[in-house]
Amino acid sequence: MNFRSKLPDIGTTIFTVMSQMAADHGAINLSQGYPDFQPPEALLQLVTKYLQAGNNQYPPMTGIPYLREQIAAKSLGLYDANINMDTEVTVTSGATEALFVAIQTLVSPGDEVIVFDPAYDAYEPAVTLAGGTTVHLPLNPPGFSLDFDRLRATLNDKTRLIILNSPHNPCGSVFSGEDLQQLASVTRGYRVYFLADEVYEHMVYDGARHESLLRHDELRERSFIVSSFGKTYHATGWKVGYCIAPPDLSAEFRKIHQFVTFTTHTPTQWALAEYLHTHPEHYLQLPGFYQAKRDLFNKLMASSGFDLTPSAGTYFQLADYSRLSGLPDVEFAAFLTREIGVAAIPVSVFYDRPPTAQLVRFCFAKADETLVLAADKLCRMAAV
Ligand code: PMP
Ligand code: GLN
Repeated sequence: MNFRSKLPDIGTTIFTVMSQMAADHGAINLSQGYPDFQPPEALLQLVTKYLQAGNNQYPPMTGIPYLREQIAAKSLGLYDANINMDTEVTVTSGATEALFVAIQTLVSPGDEVIVFDPAYDAYEPAVTLAGGTTVHLPLNPPGFSLDFDRLRATLNDKTRLIILNSPHNPCGSVFSGEDLQQLASVTRGYRVYFLADEVYEHMVYDGARHESLLRHDELRERSFIVSSFGKTYHATGWKVGYCIAPPDLSAEFRKIHQFVTFTTHTPTQWALAEYLHTHPEHYLQLPGFYQAKRDLFNKLMASSGFDLTPSAGTYFQLADYSRLSGLPDVEFAAFLTREIGVAAIPVSVFYDRPPTAQLVRFCFAKADETLVLAADKLCRMAAV
């Protein structure tokens, strides 16, 4: 068949590959990022309630008003951002849809899009499909901070979009308020927009606060800010997310959203709206909930051959395995899964030009028993 692939260099995502490998080998799956515990019981009951009550037909294309109202209220309460629920909030089928649609909204052939490596794997294919060129800048290890000098040197008249992710997957780093100030100052004078992937907004630790672009008026004016209920409510399979953007950008975003998915599962939108309204403590307690898991995992791993620097955010933990093995990370992750019985994600796959660092990513969004079992296996492993 004479068929020209639009994404010739893209295979199956590492998350699917590693979860399948974990299943094939009966390994504990600390690779793909999802909890092995249930969403809150009251939230499950609300989905059932709304489903049984007949909320089963198309909801409004932009999302039900009750949910958009709650998203605006949460943004005001947490980030002091006044958001118009009718013109600035769009509910999407997961953050993935929001990212894809935002990229299609802004990027045209000839445009450049800056991403920071290691970069979440959904960004570049969407840029390619829009006809844009992805420009990769590395984050600076060991803290994986933004390199503003390189950003300044890279910006040009073709730069259309900068994709940001904080808290950061896979590194677990978070932006500071100073980072946002610098970002505004470096990009001033360019016709560049921002796409802020903030799906881990409620997972920031050690008393730090999430520096949402919503807090920063100058950046917010030209930003699509994306989040997801999947992470916050332990329900990654529900695929409900949202995008906040100024009215002119939201209007263009909606032109595309209406033809990608049109809308998102109705009873789940109602349930999330009511739960957000009646249980704000859920997301307020989330940093404490996940910090305890991070700390447990770090403590359990203290006697292992891995070197961990506790994550500042997300439910991921990077681990340096250079004391254990000289294998490249993709091979090492496969070895861990097959021979040790714990699946992890190799970090090099998130780079255009992978550095030599020997890092894997573990997900600690797991029951404490799972973390104990996994760490026990990892602590007993000998160097290979
Ligand atoms: N962005 C990042 C950084 C993620 O880790 C994920 C993970 N799942 C997503 C976006 C996608 O979110 P969703 O499942 O809501 O589509
Ligand atoms: N975001 C999840 C992770 O980083 C995976 C999402 C997916 O499998 N598409 O593990």
